[in-house]
Amino acid sequence: MNIVVCIKQVPGTTQVKINPETGTLIRDGVEAVVNPFDEYAIEEAIRIKEKKGGTVKVVTMGPPQAEAALRTAISMGADEAYLVSDRAFAGSDTWATSYTLTAAIKTLGKVDLIICGKQAIDGDTAQVGPGIAEMLDIPFVAWVRKIEEISETSIKLERLMEEGYDVLEMPLPGLITVVKEINEPRMASLKGKMKAKSAQINTLSTSNMDVDPQFIGLKGSPTQVLRSFVPERKSGGEKITGEAAELAQKAASVIQNLGVVK
Ligand SMILES: Cc1cc2nc3c(=O)[nH]c(=O)nc-3n(C[C@H](O)[C@H](O)[C@H](O)COP(=O)(O)OP(=O)(O)OC[C@H]3O[C@@H](n4cnc5c(N)ncnc54)[C@H](O)[C@@H]3O)c2cc1C
Repeated sequence: MNIVVCIKQVPGTTQVKINPETGTLIRDGVEAVVNPFDEYAIEEAIRIKEKKGGTVKVVTMGPPQAEAALRTAISMGADEAYLVSDRAFAGSDTWATSYTLTAAIKTLGKVDLIICGKQAIDGDTAQVGPGIAEMLDIPFVAWVRKIEEISETSIKLERLMEEGYDVLEMPLPGLITVVKEINEPRMASLKGKMKAKSAQINTLSTSNMDVDPQFIGLKGSPTQVLRSFVPERKSGGEKITGEAAELAQKAASVIQNLGVVK
């Protein structure tokens, strides 16, 4: 099976500052790690390869230092690494990111399955995985917590829901995004770390990818950040106690006092 895993390098902290002029994250001086959800994606891809054979290709779009994320994936057991990097991609929103990653994936030959994390812990939108699937015109399932069966042509999986889970079958090629319940990512072995150090990192840019300049980078991004702010913390709320009938009455009167129902 030919599996592609999309991984994002993210700040290893939630205390990220935002550039007030551009509305983008200030990443300088902040320790960078592989997006935690993407570690589950890498692990799942390697497990499939171990059972079914094939290759695991990891792709990241980011500045040159995002190469470190690719080396982490290689140390875990991925086979090939692709860094999608070009000044022209700077300022991409989720749409332009999905577009650019789609173009990158198209350069990788036959792909059976694409695995992404549920979401990135900095941008948090959970849009890029589904965005890639839409642009490649392939089916996708988000929030996958277990792969029950997989063949070259289809995958049977469990999708985490708020209460319980769905069992779904999807034809391949397709894309899934995974949640942390799916597995326990392995620690890299010493051999893996040595391999990662000298692994070849393939670079994809506007010079070797088929991208339309009007759809990449800040100019190609339909989203505009008007304002970024930390939401105001609201204090405590009102706690009501009592027997069920009394509670229902109190709750009804609180709702009535809000003026939204009569
Ligand atoms: C107007 C605008 C300008 C922006 N400018 C910049 C900028 O200059 N620099 C910058 O770094 N960010 C910028 N961003 C943020 C950038 O668009 C997002 O970080 C990126 O699109 C991913 O979205 P997300 O973090 O919400 O990921 P999600 O959609 O939550 O990620 C889901 C999954 O998609 C995959 N994925 C996501 N991003 C990548 C990636 N880059 N490479 C590989 N796989 C990925 C991973 O598997 C991840 O788990 C900008 C955003 C906007 C709206």
